[in-house]
Amino acid sequence: MAQKSRIFTATALALVVLATAAACSPQAGASAGASGPSSAPNQAHVTPVTPTPTPTPAPTRTPPAFDKHAHSINKANNYWVVVNKLRPLNPKTYSPSDIINVPVAHDNPPRMRKAAGNALVKMFAAGKKAGAGAMQIQSAWRPYSVQVSVYNGWVASLGKKQADLQSARPGYSEHQTGLAVDISPVPLKCALAACFGTTPQGKWLAANSWKYGYILRYPKGRTAITGYVYEPWHFRYVGTALSTEYHLEGATTLEGFFGLPAAPDYAN
Ligand SMILES: [Zn+2]
Repeated sequence: MAQKSRIFTATALALVVLATAAACSPQAGASAGASGPSSAPNQAHVTPVTPTPTPTPAPTRTPPAFDKHAHSINKANNYWVVVNKLRPLNPKTYSPSDIINVPVAHDNPPRMRKAAGNALVKMFAAGKKAGAGAMQIQSAWRPYSVQVSVYNGWVASLGKKQADLQSARPGYSEHQTGLAVDISPVPLKCALAACFGTTPQGKWLAANSWKYGYILRYPKGRTAITGYVYEPWHFRYVGTALSTEYHLEGATTLEGFFGLPAAPDYAN
């Protein structure tokens, strides 16, 4: 390796010298493309050296760049809306106007907004076709009134502090938007549990949901930002434009993607 390394260094230096010379030449622009590397006089001793693997440069995409301000993240009925413990829905009693019954297997009522539901049908079918197994809706749209009774039930039995750790306050739940869905395998296994992430369905969804406009909203290790523990079963529809960009950037939270403050807890 030391020998190769020296040869490589010498080659690199020679190329730098050549490149510098070319850059200084008045015809550099015209000759660079036409002549190519074969015209380099030192090429002969480069050839026998086993090519040293070079890191693949990060792929660059051509403009127009993705516009993160193209849609509002504040409007409750927007596919891009960001809801968290510091960003309640406005109004808190918001109810979507295009809820449909999604024709897939389900435990609780399979109600979601139309675009989210249609995408879910395609995603479940694709997952099954890919060999990940069957999936069902564990929980989807939860209207404000339902969230009120669920949350109040927890407060009554556990107290407010503990209730806040396991149930969103009414007006603060993504499920109220009709764009969020909890998914479980069929037959039922690891429903609403961290081990869902190790099932074929959980793994397939984590890798492929972006193709259908969905993102994994509460990933592992992001509780301090999202305010929620790892929920490998909770997917949020944002549309394919955003989910594709999110995937390309390697984003892990909507808060990070949009440059929003972390929302580990309610303001009061
Ligand atoms: Zn959920």
